[in-house]
Amino acid sequence: MAGTQLGLDRDDGEFDAIPTQVTLARSGMPAQTLPNAQWSSAMAMNDDSTADDQSAAGTQARDAHFLRHSFAVARRSMSHGNHPFAAVLVDAGGRVLIEAENGYMPARDATAHAERLVATQACTSIAADIRATATLYSSAEPCAMCAGAIYWAGIGRVVYGLSERRLRDFTGNHPENPTLDLPCRDVFASGQRTTEVVGPLLEDEAAALHIGVWDR
Ligand SMILES: [Zn+2]
Repeated sequence: MAGTQLGLDRDDGEFDAIPTQVTLARSGMPAQTLPNAQWSSAMAMNDDSTADDQSAAGTQARDAHFLRHSFAVARRSMSHGNHPFAAVLVDAGGRVLIEAENGYMPARDATAHAERLVATQACTSIAADIRATATLYSSAEPCAMCAGAIYWAGIGRVVYGLSERRLRDFTGNHPENPTLDLPCRDVFASGQRTTEVVGPLLEDEAAALHIGVWDR
C-alpha cells in the first residue's frame, strides 16, 4: 500500500530487546514489535506507589514512547516528500501492528491521511478484537475524516500529539492542508461505541515537525 509500511526499521539500534513476532490476521505478513523495556522501567520508579499508580505511570511512559515513534515516522514522511504526519497502531501487548506515513504524494490523494491509511489497513488485516484493544498513535489530532475511519475500524483508543487547532495555526488555509478544525472527541462522542482519547500530548515536540513546513 502506498505510504504504508509494516513493522519498524530496526536499523537505528534504539531498541535492543528481542521482539515478539506477530502475524497480521489475513495478509500473513509479519510485523515487528517493540519491547516493553522502554516504558516498563517507569513502573518501577517508586516503591511506595500503588499498583494503580504504577499502571498509570506505565501507560504514560508507553504513550510517550509510541507517540515519539509516530513523530519519527512523520519525519520520515517529510523526507519522502510528504506532509509531516504519521500514525502507528499498537496492540494491547505493545506490538506495533501497522505504521503509516502521510500518503498525499505522488497522486495528490488528499484522503490519504496517515490515520485513515492505518484504519483501512487495520480493517482488512487485523482481527476486530485486536483492533478494539489497540491504540492508534498519531502525530497530530485525527481530523473528522480520520476520526470517522478510526471509529468505523473499531479502534478502541487514540493518542495524539498536536491538536487540530494548533495545526491550523501552522497551515492556515494552505491548499494542501486547509485544516478541518473539529475536535476528534466531538466525532467519537457522536458514535455508539466508546473511543478513548488522550491528547494533546508532547505537543511542543509534535508542533516542531511543522515549523516552516506550511510557509508560502
Ligand atoms: Zn485526517
